[in-house]
Amino acid sequence: MAALMKKILPVFLLALAIPGGPRELRAEADTSLGEARALYFRGRISKALKLYEEAVESDPKNLSAYLDAAAACKALAENSKAAGMLEKASALAPGDPDILSELGWAYFLDGRHSEARAAFERALDLDKKRAGASLGLAAALLELGGAKDALRVLEKLSEARPNFAAADYLAGLAHEELGRTEPALKSFVSCLKKDWTFAEARSLLAGAYEKTGNAKSAWRQYTRLGDLDPGDPAVGRALARLREAVPEEVRAPASLESLEFSTVSPLGPDRAGRELRVGLWTSPSGKPSELKDFSFDSNGAFAVVGTKTGKVYATGAKGGRWKAVGLRHHSCDVLAPDGRSLGPFKHPVLIRTKEPGQVLLIQDANNRDGTARGYLNGREYRGTLEISAGRRGGVSAVNVVPVEEYLLGVLPSEMPESWPLEALKAQAVIARNQAVLRQKTLRPHRRHGYDVCDGQHCQVYKGVRIESENTRRAVVETLGKFLYYKNELVQSYYHSSCGGETQSSSEVRGWGRLPYLQGRPDGGADDSPPARTPWELALWLKGDPGAHCNLGRGSPTSEFRWLRVIPAKVLERKLNRKFRIGEIRQVIPLERSRAGYVNEILGLGSRGRTVIDRPHLIRSYLGLESLRSNLFLIETRKDAAGKPVEFWIYGGGWGHGIGLCQSGAAGMALKEKKNSADILEFYFPGSEVR
Ligand SMILES: [Zn+2]
Ligand SMILES: [Zn+2]
Repeated sequence: MAALMKKILPVFLLALAIPGGPRELRAEADTSLGEARALYFRGRISKALKLYEEAVESDPKNLSAYLDAAAACKALAENSKAAGMLEKASALAPGDPDILSELGWAYFLDGRHSEARAAFERALDLDKKRAGASLGLAAALLELGGAKDALRVLEKLSEARPNFAAADYLAGLAHEELGRTEPALKSFVSCLKKDWTFAEARSLLAGAYEKTGNAKSAWRQYTRLGDLDPGDPAVGRALARLREAVPEEVRAPASLESLEFSTVSPLGPDRAGRELRVGLWTSPSGKPSELKDFSFDSNGAFAVVGTKTGKVYATGAKGGRWKAVGLRHHSCDVLAPDGRSLGPFKHPVLIRTKEPGQVLLIQDANNRDGTARGYLNGREYRGTLEISAGRRGGVSAVNVVPVEEYLLGVLPSEMPESWPLEALKAQAVIARNQAVLRQKTLRPHRRHGYDVCDGQHCQVYKGVRIESENTRRAVVETLGKFLYYKNELVQSYYHSSCGGETQSSSEVRGWGRLPYLQGRPDGGADDSPPARTPWELALWLKGDPGAHCNLGRGSPTSEFRWLRVIPAKVLERKLNRKFRIGEIRQVIPLERSRAGYVNEILGLGSRGRTVIDRPHLIRSYLGLESLRSNLFLIETRKDAAGKPVEFWIYGGGWGHGIGLCQSGAAGMALKEKKNSADILEFYFPGSEVR
């Protein structure tokens, strides 16, 4: 009976489906494709693939099912199967260059370089301007020994998309292939100028510098790489090799004795607002970080005061070279210009300026291992500097500064001063909201002894030196203005670029559910277009779609669309430092927001697996240099044995994608002539400035 049922049941089900006619059949297929899409976005990609396969089985002309199936195959690193799906799709739609280009990539990832080349060439025959096909053709030519031809293709690509760093990266590889180190070096420099996060190019650049005998530059690049991945043995060996060849002053940059002090504050003392405690030179997660020592000076008189006792230990004037040093046993010291020690201090010491508008200048900052923390040289701060002993024998510092003066240093750190004033004003308002919210409500650094850190974790704050006319004007013209939703301060999150669509706070773990933090397309005619299918997501992330934040040639780097080529070994090393999963096998997005942001990811290794569910950790674990955003597509290039060689990560935007998109704000002001209130209303619907 059971056996009979098995035979009858499919026929019976088929019979049930037929009376509905073709229209209902299509509706059924659509529902199943919708379900497959939902599964794909929830990371159940094998299941989604099954549904797509069923769809093409029941309707061999279902083009979109083939395309989505191919996208799912690529997400699972089943490149050969993806190629099969795309071959069928291409047979159904032979005039579609996107399908041919993606077919080329599936072949390429699968190691079938000649077939890849042919597919890319066919795509370019149909449309010469397909950037993805050009890039693919160059990559395939490189593998086939055609480095010169690859360079010709890349040259044209760079003309069409001048901010596309990946074209320079491949050009560098092509030059290296041809044994031309100088041009290779130039290409890698150009790549990093367009996208400094492209750390894979930095490794090659360091090597090229070393080959050309430029030990100084090689040293600098290797040092940066060492900061990113202290466990990289190749970097350690390179630094040891170069040590002799590099003069002392490069290893520890000289002091900046002749620095001039910046101009005074445009705000009167009574307009500067409440005081804020800003942790200086903090770690990427906003924690205090320690220096071995640093020097300081001021452009006026100052006093060295004990916080505990209120005692004035010394007074100083312009032109002295004072020094703060860490000591053992949780204490620190301040040395006068003549070398006289004022400490040791167990409790924090204040360097208090006397006149309004006065600044403190930092020079010669050194890490605990004695290497220079070069980027701090020349930093200037208004207000008071609070120096305290770190836990590991170093010193750390807090800048106590009125909130509006703090904002003067945040604005140019967070947005280019050349951007439209209305965008800068919108930025000033939300940065002010952030500062006060963090101080009074969120208190993320309560344990660390400050209200905000000076890095991306809170808001980047680089002090006085980078202030400019425009950014000052934006702060002054919005002085004391905040953004409210009903009667509450708006949690005014912002990011550099959303890549074309923001995400809702509720889609990301730990961000809460706020009515004004709703994901939406950043520009475009339709406010809530239908959700993208896996195939559409791939084309969107690999393409150059219109959006407020797509500033085209006006954008300084490839922030809107980027690509990283991460060697499997790099990813393996990074993941294993924390998770011990063994040899890397696969990286699969598990949870995507509506727009496509990857909010949970699975790393599969030979010895285990790990799930990372915090977007900022996903970004930091997947690359040598943190990925710009978690809005990305990951494709796996494998060797003949089926092991991953490289991960090609196609991304959109920079930052977490929640709240205001800074590039989008600039785009709204530039392209649509919107004012700061319009901009804020767009990104925080229902809010108002008061
Ligand atoms: Zn912070
Ligand atoms: Zn945007």
